[in-house]
Amino acid sequence: MENFIVSARKYRPTTFSTVIGQETITQTLKNSISTGHLGQAYLFCGPRGVGKTTCARIFAKTINCQNLSADVEACNECESCKSFNNSTSFNIFELDAASNNSVDDIRQLIDQVRIPPQVGKYSVYIIDEVHMLSQQAFNAFLKTLEEPPRHAIFILATTEKHKIIPTIISRCQIFDFNRIKIDDIVRQLTNVAQKEGITIEPEAANVIATKASGGLRDALSIFDQIVSFSGKNVTYQSTIDNLNVLDYEYFFTMTNYFLAGDYSSALITFDEILNKGFDDRNFLLGLCSHFRDLLVSKDPRTLKLLEVSDKTKQHYMEQSAKCSPDFLFSALDISQQFDENYKESNNKRLHIELAMLQLCNIVKKKNEVDAPAPKPVESTPKQINKPIEKKVAEPVPEQPKTVVTGRTTQTSQIIIDTNISAPSVKPQPQIANLKTETVPEKKVETPIQQQKKYSPEEQYSELAKINPLLNNLKDRLDLRRD
Ligand SMILES: [Zn+2]
Repeated sequence: MENFIVSARKYRPTTFSTVIGQETITQTLKNSISTGHLGQAYLFCGPRGVGKTTCARIFAKTINCQNLSADVEACNECESCKSFNNSTSFNIFELDAASNNSVDDIRQLIDQVRIPPQVGKYSVYIIDEVHMLSQQAFNAFLKTLEEPPRHAIFILATTEKHKIIPTIISRCQIFDFNRIKIDDIVRQLTNVAQKEGITIEPEAANVIATKASGGLRDALSIFDQIVSFSGKNVTYQSTIDNLNVLDYEYFFTMTNYFLAGDYSSALITFDEILNKGFDDRNFLLGLCSHFRDLLVSKDPRTLKLLEVSDKTKQHYMEQSAKCSPDFLFSALDISQQFDENYKESNNKRLHIELAMLQLCNIVKKKNEVDAPAPKPVESTPKQINKPIEKKVAEPVPEQPKTVVTGRTTQTSQIIIDTNISAPSVKPQPQIANLKTETVPEKKVETPIQQQKKYSPEEQYSELAKINPLLNNLKDRLDLRRD
């Protein structure tokens, strides 16, 4: 049986030029090697799997190479390079501080540092996860770090820079490693797949890259996992099945329902998503980023912010052409507000369903606002259709929120404050401190102002459906009254 080597190890870069997504850092390291300005201690910070240890190893190999190339890369042929490539070099020592964090471990290291290298000029000491060292170990290490022998170079790597004590930081040259861009990860996955004789759909590579959130090692591990699951042909479908990622397609379909105001289909599809075992919160977050992606697809200048495959990009552009910016802003606002209140909700499923009902209502409400106002009937004494007026509240100092007691109270208060003189409504003296001003008819109004155009009965049924908005409204009305 063939000896399987995980892709992250098999395709680990061995030269600076093959390191993915850290060009600034590799260039700075190369410059310091070519000018001979080598520091004695480096601190490599950044998320996991972005190339910290890899860069440290390449650096160690390059400074010991006996025939450096013109562009400051190791030759991979000299004795030193060969021993590095076979992992038999005595010029490199790696200590994992996560498991060797005691004073004794550091003392052993310090003893070793004194011995000069037999081959090559430098000994490089890589201390991984250096933030895990104990306080005493840090203290024992300080002296050596400050005045190491000429042949010793320390490279400290950490994912948690803030945990490194300032006395260590001040003795090191600091390199901050970036998360790797999705495009770069996709390119590398495609390369690796090609070398392994595996076909991978661009959408599949994209899902893997997104899932790995900027870590190339993670991306390659996920890739291996999917290959062992689906064989030599990695498709989008097999990838989302394996990673339990919700298909993009659901968000496109949902958005179509929202645009059409088709809440029944939206609720049924949501049920289907839950039945497949997907988390409701993740779905809401997914919707949020879908709206964001639609918004950036509207402008060629922001289109580059869309990190998806070309085919999916086309899909986004088609759907975004159907959505008005107003719709997208309202949709983002609603989904974001529901996400904020998610934790406080007792019935999570209902909470998300309410969000979807509001999303289905955006276009309908917009149309109602845009429709010309009916002409006032002059002969009737009770004029229901007044010209549209907008109330502007005086600035009110912030008040503690009133506790909501029951649905009946909330509803009656809302009816009282409406601008429509229906028989059941008594005018309130508090309205006196509100200025009125006429606004142009087509002005887009906030959901709360739009509520006023419903008759009290309609308003009741609307509000009873959308409970969070009700609370929201209640708070604002209370503020205004005070
Ligand atoms: Zn060499």
